[in-house]
Amino acid sequence: MIRVAVNGYGTIGKRVADAVAAQKDMKIVGVSKTRPNAEAFVAKQRGFPLYIADISKKAAFEKAGLSVAGSVEDMLKNCDVVVDATPGDVGKTNKPLYEKLKVKALWQGGEDHEVAGFSFNSDCNYKDAIGKQFVRVVSCNTTGLCRIINTVDREFGVAHVHAIMVRRGSDPGEIKKGPIDATVLDPVTVPSHHGPDVLSVLPHISITTMAMIVPTTMMHMHAIRITTKKPVSRDRVIELINKHPRLGLIKKTAGIKSTAELKEFAMDLNRQRSDLYENCIFEDSIYAQGNELCFFQAIHQEADVVVENVDAIRAMTGIEKDGKKSVAATNAALKFTPIQNYH
Ligand code: NAD
Repeated sequence: MIRVAVNGYGTIGKRVADAVAAQKDMKIVGVSKTRPNAEAFVAKQRGFPLYIADISKKAAFEKAGLSVAGSVEDMLKNCDVVVDATPGDVGKTNKPLYEKLKVKALWQGGEDHEVAGFSFNSDCNYKDAIGKQFVRVVSCNTTGLCRIINTVDREFGVAHVHAIMVRRGSDPGEIKKGPIDATVLDPVTVPSHHGPDVLSVLPHISITTMAMIVPTTMMHMHAIRITTKKPVSRDRVIELINKHPRLGLIKKTAGIKSTAELKEFAMDLNRQRSDLYENCIFEDSIYAQGNELCFFQAIHQEADVVVENVDAIRAMTGIEKDGKKSVAATNAALKFTPIQNYH
């Protein structure tokens, strides 16, 4: 049984904790919070021992009815792997502690590649993560890009990718981010950071990315054009998506053409927190002609990286050497099959 701690029980951390708790080969030994808020009560409801970053705040937690199991350092002494899901750039400040305690640590995409020295995606480089002390699961957008680019590359060879990311302004529970009424180029210059980030996992791929942020909280939308080395077949692309455990196909029959309808579908399907772990590729948008492949895919920013974290834990501990088996185990424990199986 792999003992997992979650340092930073927020948007990503609370989802990873639930996903880990659902696995047969791992368990949550603790989660950490900086202040007593609603998420701390969720941790209590789930039965996860609560640790705190600043032990001097113990009284404030206990006054709120939340018992504190100890400090983050106490939590780390009792785990095999820590999933660091603290906000971007905070995670790197925890590295000296992880090094001191010789604990395996897993960071998120808000940290630079250099923090862990290894960037992970289950589909692309599971084997290379086996036994590593430090791993970074790439961001939600990069995860979505890597899954589909690697799949197309395996079959047709990728000569070049051009991807435009229309990004959500904030997560649904965030009240301090925006924009409220603007389309913000993020950044104005080309490429956006996503292209170089894909290279941290798939260094041989030629890719240019552009990004903008819009006033929505639900999902990101990618417009992708791939030039392939061999002629590409639309039917084969659909077949590959259907066979992939983390690629979803939004079929024409569903009549969905927006992230709003997609999230409504996920809610109606009783997905936990309406999470979509898979890339959501719009079947009707798939255009293949000669060596050109184009499509739209929606990416649920709060969810796609969650399943990747679970696989990364298996790879780092070496408990499962086969990436495909890990992906299957993760999906099965979450009772997750991609969305095309529901319509
Ligand atoms: P969040 O703000 O929702 O949660 C972070 C949590 O960490 C909060 O509970 C906060 O209280 C806690 N925290 C802050 N400082 C801490 C400290 N020093 N020690 C322990 N806990 C601390 O953030 P998030 O959206 O979950 O992002 C976490 C990481 O995941 C970031 O690297 C982010 O870039 C990445 N990520 C986020 C998303 C997304 O859409 N939210 C998607 C993919 C990756």
